[in-house]
Amino acid sequence: MSDAGAARAAELRAIVTRAAHDYYVRDRPSLPDAEYDRLFRELQALEAARPELRTADSPTLRVGADVAASHLAKHRHLAPMASLDNAMSDAELEAWEEKAVRLVGDAVRASGYTVELKIDGAAVSLTYRDGVLVTGATRGNGTIGEDVTANLRTIHEIPLRLAGTGWPGLIEIRGEVYMTFDGFEQMNAERARAGEPVFANPRNSAAGALRQKDPALTAQRPLRFFGYTFALPDNAPLPFRTQWELLDTLERWGIPVAPHRRRCATIAAVHAWAHATEHETREQLPFDIDGGVVKVDALALHAELGLVNERVPRWAIARKFTASIEETRLVAIHVNVGRTGKLNPWAELEPVEIGGVTVRNATLHNAQLVAQKDLRVGDTVQVRRAGDVIPQVIGPVPEKRSGHEVPWRPPARCPVCDTAVAREEGEVDVYCPNVACPGRRLEALVHFASRPAMDIRGLSDARIAQLVEAGLVNDVSDLYDLGSARLAQLDGFAERSAQQLVDAIAGSKAQPLSRLLFGLGIRHVGEGAAELLARHFGDLDRLAAAAGATIEGVRGVGPTIAASVADWFADPWARRLVEKLRRRGLTFTEPQAAGSDGALKGLTIVITGTLPTLSRAQATQLVEQAGGRVTDSVSKKTSLLVAGAEAGSKLEKARALGVEVIDEASLLQRLGRRP
Ligand code: NAD
Repeated sequence: MSDAGAARAAELRAIVTRAAHDYYVRDRPSLPDAEYDRLFRELQALEAARPELRTADSPTLRVGADVAASHLAKHRHLAPMASLDNAMSDAELEAWEEKAVRLVGDAVRASGYTVELKIDGAAVSLTYRDGVLVTGATRGNGTIGEDVTANLRTIHEIPLRLAGTGWPGLIEIRGEVYMTFDGFEQMNAERARAGEPVFANPRNSAAGALRQKDPALTAQRPLRFFGYTFALPDNAPLPFRTQWELLDTLERWGIPVAPHRRRCATIAAVHAWAHATEHETREQLPFDIDGGVVKVDALALHAELGLVNERVPRWAIARKFTASIEETRLVAIHVNVGRTGKLNPWAELEPVEIGGVTVRNATLHNAQLVAQKDLRVGDTVQVRRAGDVIPQVIGPVPEKRSGHEVPWRPPARCPVCDTAVAREEGEVDVYCPNVACPGRRLEALVHFASRPAMDIRGLSDARIAQLVEAGLVNDVSDLYDLGSARLAQLDGFAERSAQQLVDAIAGSKAQPLSRLLFGLGIRHVGEGAAELLARHFGDLDRLAAAAGATIEGVRGVGPTIAASVADWFADPWARRLVEKLRRRGLTFTEPQAAGSDGALKGLTIVITGTLPTLSRAQATQLVEQAGGRVTDSVSKKTSLLVAGAEAGSKLEKARALGVEVIDEASLLQRLGRRP
């Protein structure tokens, strides 16, 4: 007798097991998460309806994937590391609560719940013996993980020694190693440049970085950590009574805990938190979450509730949010021109709903990435939308190709002004070298008016588009000729708002040279470089007159920036623009900073690691301008250590000596600057 259910279950087991191996062991998912989850749930439903179909090796009973094939040494966890069951809706969450109440009674409701962000990273367990980190391991198959101690030690957020007091002699602290979106993008850009395959998402890249053979490579990865649970030897007394208290305690011990946690007295409060987290908080987070985790607060009940099976506990559940990655078809690849002339390929997609929003197009970053990912027009592609990040095409699904897909070639000429494109040596991007290219106009204006540049309030992107369309502005100097009477005739303007905009534009004439320089949108001149140049030359004309070599002599300014600035000023169009701005009365000078009587007078400062925005030279210059002295090594005489990512022995030494450690943001704050 043929049995369609049994055949389907066998098929699902095979697909899910293979996908789990690709995902957990190879760090290269072969299916989108949403599809994996659908197949997994289909298998769960089949097994629930017909328990005889559940084989002992079913993936619904297992955590992660088999680690036997891994190159890493194995580590047996003190107690198994579980996964979590999912609740996709409020109703499913309520069903979970009812089940728990049925099993152990009203104590569940009386205890209430602690809810936490569900960070999408790689689960690890950190063993601390007498407060000292001795082992760190991946979750692996839940019972046996891989020993990645050396790699975990490179993550600065993981304390090598617990702070405070009161920790048990032996404890495993569990949590998630993750990457921020920024860190992920930066890492993938580097990989693309080096010709290495890019990672599909921050979770797989974190897992991959963690399982590197060489800790020095892991150390270069921007890995972060949040703790959320623990394990103790059998019969050890519990050092905390509730999940909430546990999280507080972890923080006291120096373990970072994810923000936005909440203690909820009722399941209705959990729903409210979940909705707010999905629709508001999620957009603002610098890292990916795929839901919230709801835990019965009282730890005594955890033991009573126990496990559903080896894979999942009964006292916690993931409240999943809508997926941030979906599949759709790549209809076409277009190119637009950015403000610096960079040609940006972007994808036109068959509309697809991701996280409650219909996505029609997505960024493709640059031509090299398109080639690297081998994206072809007509491909089925995976698209990610997360936080306020522009939707991105992660890559094609080659298995779904029909053979009619068309490979893409970057344009040889600017799609707007038809100038032959250029590429600088060693650079990924192709760009339109014509500084007067109208394709750049809109973005150049938007950038000029933006907050870190001339900060013209009320001059929104939409307003700028309107002004360009009405033929009122062509380059940034035209903004200063706008009259309120003419503006008031445009749609959406009243007399008052027209006057306000004219005043705001006029007010921007007083912005210092550094902002003007940044606002001009010269290739490679970011805020930091603009500030260094403005301070050094003090005056736009002096900068314009300096040859490339003189500019390169400015501390913190490299040859690329110097060449780009010199090229820009050499262009007749740019020179004309400078004259127009001069006639309109813009400020061409930079107020000089306070000297040695500055905010850091008398302090000896060491800078270590990679700072998020400043180069070492820029940071040194800022410290010296504020009267501080920068030295190389940490000693008792060091007043402050400014530590960035991958800070190593200096950070440890500073901590050991009790030297105050600050990050770039607090340094800038002390200098009275915007971080
Ligand atoms: P999970 O990610 O759904 O949930 C359990 C995990 O959540 C825990 O192990 C822990 O690492 C993590 N977590 C994050 N924050 C937490 C917190 N505050 N408290 C407790 N735990 C927290 O389960 P999983 O077993 O790690 O992975 C399953 C998921 O992985 C699936 O939902 C699927 O999307 C994805 N996956 C995808 C593929 C694929 O082919 N694309 C294959 C396998 C798995």
